[in-house]
Parts: sequence; structure tokens; C-alpha cells
Amino acid sequence: MDKQKLLDDLTGIVGKSNVSIDEAVLFLYSSDVAFESDIFPDIVVRPSTTEEVSQIVRYANDNKIPITPRGAGSGASGSAVAVKGGILLDLTRMNKILELDTDNFMVAVQPGVVLVNLNEYLKPHGLFLPVDLGSASMANIGGTIANNGGGLRAVKYGVMRNYVMGLEVVLPSGEILETGGKTRKNVVGYDIVSLFTGSEGTLGIITKAILKIIAIPKHVGVVFAVYDDLYKAGKTVPAIFKSGILPSAIEILDQTAILAINKYRPDVNLPQSAEAILLFEIDGPIPIEREITIIEETCREQGAIEVKKTTDEAERTRLWEARKLVGAASTRVREGYSRVYEGEDITVTPMDIPDVLLELRALSKRYDLPIVVFGHIGDGNLHPAITVRKKNPQDLLKLKQLVDEIHELALSKGGVVTGEHGIGVQRAKYLKNNPLNLHVMRLIKKVLDPNNIMNPGKMDLDPIYEA
Ligand SMILES: Cc1cc2nc3c(=O)[nH]c(=O)nc-3n(C[C@H](O)[C@H](O)[C@H](O)COP(=O)(O)OP(=O)(O)OC[C@H]3O[C@@H](n4cnc5c(N)ncnc54)[C@H](O)[C@@H]3O)c2cc1C
Repeated sequence: MDKQKLLDDLTGIVGKSNVSIDEAVLFLYSSDVAFESDIFPDIVVRPSTTEEVSQIVRYANDNKIPITPRGAGSGASGSAVAVKGGILLDLTRMNKILELDTDNFMVAVQPGVVLVNLNEYLKPHGLFLPVDLGSASMANIGGTIANNGGGLRAVKYGVMRNYVMGLEVVLPSGEILETGGKTRKNVVGYDIVSLFTGSEGTLGIITKAILKIIAIPKHVGVVFAVYDDLYKAGKTVPAIFKSGILPSAIEILDQTAILAINKYRPDVNLPQSAEAILLFEIDGPIPIEREITIIEETCREQGAIEVKKTTDEAERTRLWEARKLVGAASTRVREGYSRVYEGEDITVTPMDIPDVLLELRALSKRYDLPIVVFGHIGDGNLHPAITVRKKNPQDLLKLKQLVDEIHELALSKGGVVTGEHGIGVQRAKYLKNNPLNLHVMRLIKKVLDPNNIMNPGKMDLDPIYEA
């Protein structure tokens, strides 16, 4: 690809300060949290308007140049990495909140708005977007729609798809599609909004989103339950659902996670002999003390050896702290071992969770690789963070087999290989598990993007272009 020509042509659309072919800049965009590519984009382009995006996409389509949209690059599947080179479209300059409609509980935003910034903006109005990712201080709305993000409060509030009411999308042809809108109900044909939600940038570029927002709950409480038996911790989740209470979050830390956190931040001082900790958050518009008591009682009935509960804000923050630290702490679990983002997003039904927890522990023992297990246990969505010695060939060989076994474990239970982090490059091979579903996805991709310019090399979609 003639980089100088690309630079000249795209400078004409976005201006000199918003394009780069500098190798150092291209290198910075060649990875996300999970995946590093040897292939760099040919150019990074930073548009600020829908019109600019449309012109860039038209140019890419006319010249059959791959184009990869990117938000914060916090994705954990390689989906925002330009594995086929071409144009890396950085959307972070499109970070305006366009309209707040408090009467209809809607907000319209550009894709580069960061999740926490949106909620800071909404707070004085008593409103919020409840999709609360562990990465909320970096993740953009566009990336989170494209990945259909879930997060800590999905057990009660659902995932991004439940809040996306309308989209403006630049199609691979460069045309600007408007689909959906502010109405609560809309069954005008196929659900195109949902098609683009979770499409990981393979079908078009989201340039605007209309999001449903809700009132901030006035009352919030936390229950922190300690178990000396991992299986009993797992069994507590369906028992809570049977009690009729729907917490806004149910999170787990297993013994390896507890060890990692204690090593990383000894002052947090979690009970090291415990096999698991469950963290519940309960919220609502009216006092929630009764719900907290029911959760406490259920935890004890299921075998919790210690239960703390609070509605005090400072105390709640303290009880949440361990969970917020675990991602960073996981690399400390065994000296010389660091976290890899593979096999880290499996999802099964809540009923299958207890067995899956035990099987993950058995796998860790068999492979002699520490797995720090944490995640959104209320959704059956676990993040088993495998740690390895990254330069040890034997560990890397074991890692490949272990990753396959973890994904097969989820599939054997009727679960899925990813609950929120997406497919991208990392999990593409597991889509073959449902060949007809994959075929339908490929047909849709080819109709919308006949030249395969839009984020190629992802989700195992490319073979349809070779047929
Ligand atoms: C510490 C940590 C914690 C995390 N916790 C969670 C969690 O709790 N829940 C969760 O769901 N995820 C979590 N994630 C994963 C990640 O943060 C989310 O997937 C996030 O939504 C990605 O947003 P982003 O802006 O970084 O997107 P990127 O990584 O930049 O892109 C993600 C995908 O979206 C596409 N894309 C980006 N912008 C657009 C656009 N405007 N139009 C079309 N396609 C676009 C990209 O091509 C790519 O396919 C976590 C990650 C980290 C590092």
C-alpha cells in the first residue's frame, strides 16, 4: 500500500493533524488488551464528524482498503486491531453528548464518549446508563455497543443491547443508515439495531447512538459472604434467584483470586483460608434492608461462614475494593507468572456454575498453571484468568491445550465461549461449533460488505469471500 498516497488522500478529509503513518504511532495501535499483531495498520485516521467517516469509508471501499474502527482499544479479543493492515479509524475524537431528553429517558451520543463521562454528565439529572464495565473509565460507547458489553450490573439491568434504541451507522458503501429511534416499542421489520450491536465493527461504523437511561436508585447495599467451600458458594447463586431477590450485582473471587489480591495489596487483608467470596449489590427506589437480610440468610443457609452487610457508602466502596483490584492483582499470584487473556470469558447457566468452578480448579491443578477465577457469577459469566511464564515454551504449549479445555468445558455444559468480551481474533476458531449459525453470519457480512473492507480477519467471516 502506498502510505504517502494514503496520507495525502486522507489528509484531504480530516486535516494534517488527524492522520499519521509514523511507525511509533502505528505500533501503538497494533494491539489491544488481549492481542498483539505483527501487522500494523498502514495509517491511523481520527475523524470528528459522521460526514468525515462516510468520506473515509467511501474512499476505502472504492480502493478496497481494509478499515478497522477503534474506540479505547480496551477490548479483550483483538477485535480492534487491524490484522489486515489498511486504515485504523480512531473514533475517540467523536466524543460529544448530542442530546439529553429527560422526559423520554434518552440520551444521544457520539461513539467516542467514555462510559464514566456519560454517567458523570447524567448524575446531576438523577439518571444513569447502568451498563457498568470493569473498564468503564476507558471504554467508549461505540466499542461497548460493537462488543455488546455486559459488566458488573448485567444480572439485574441487562447488557448494552438492552439500552441501544437507535443507531446512526456508516455502511461499508459510505451511506449513512439511521435505524431505530426513541420509541420504547419498535417492530418495524428486522431488528437492525440489534444486528449492529455486537457486530464488532465488521458491518459498519457506529457514528451516533440513542441510548435508554434510567433513574439512579436511591438505596444501595452490599453483602459480602465468605465460604470455606467453593461448591457451596456456587450453589448460593441459584438459591438467591429462588428467593425472588434480584441483586444488581453478584460477583465471585475464588481462593486464587483472594491470594493474588492479598499479595498485591496486603492492606485489603482478605481471609486467605476462604475458598471463595461472593459480593452482592442490591439497589432500588425504596429501602432495601429486607432484601439484604434475605440475601444474608440465604448465604448462611448455603454454607457461608462469615457475612458482612452494609448500606453505608464508604463501607460499600471498601467491600467492593477487592473485586475492583483483581484484574491488576492476578499477575501477582505466583512469582514470574503473568496473566494472558485467553479462555477468560466463558458463560454457562447459573445452575452449572458450581460444577464449572470445581472443574476449573481441577484443570489448574492438572496443568500446574494458576487460574485466578473471578467474574459475574450471577450471569454465569466467569473470567478465569490463566497465568503463565510467558517466555517458557512448555508453559505456552500447556496454555494452548488449557485454553481449548476451558472453552470445551463451557460448550459441554451448553454454555458459550464468550459472554461479553467478544470473538475478534482470539475466539474465532470456536464459532465452527455452530456451522449454520456461522454461515448465516457470513452471508449477512457479504451482503453488507461485498468487498470485505470492514474489520476483516475477525470472527472467522473471511472464508465466504474465498468461496
Ligand atoms: C480491566 C478491564 C475490564 C473490563 N471489564 C469488562 C466488563 O466488565 N464487561 C465487558 O463487557 N467488557 C469488559 N472489558 C472489555 C472492554 O473494555 C469492552 O469490550 C469495551 O466495551 C470495549 O470498548 P472500547 O472502546 O475499548 O472498544 P475497542 O476495544 O476499541 O473496540 C472493540 C470493538 O468495537 C469495534 N468498534 C469500536 N468503535 C466502533 C464504532 N464506533 N463502530 C463500530 N465498531 C466499533 C472495534 O472494531 C472492535 O471490534 C474489560 C476490559 C478491561 C481491560
